[in-house]
Amino acid sequence: MVRRHRPTPERILRCPQCRSTDVFTDVTMFSGALYTCKQCGYKGPFILEEDVPSQPPPLPEGSSEDLP
Ligand SMILES: [Zn+2]
Repeated sequence: MVRRHRPTPERILRCPQCRSTDVFTDVTMFSGALYTCKQCGYKGPFILEEDVPSQPPPLPEGSSEDLP
């Protein structure tokens, strides 16, 4: 197995302007993190973060989908 064990779920960054995930993180000493979007050229401290669950959540059993 080449994959590393990740205790925390992986996250993807999404551009708040064009919703692209082609976003880079620039960390500066003074202002913290700056994000740069490769698609629309957006640059700023605000970005959308989405969790990427490693496994899909289990479906609840005995739900209303169980029609007789
Ligand atoms: Zn963008």
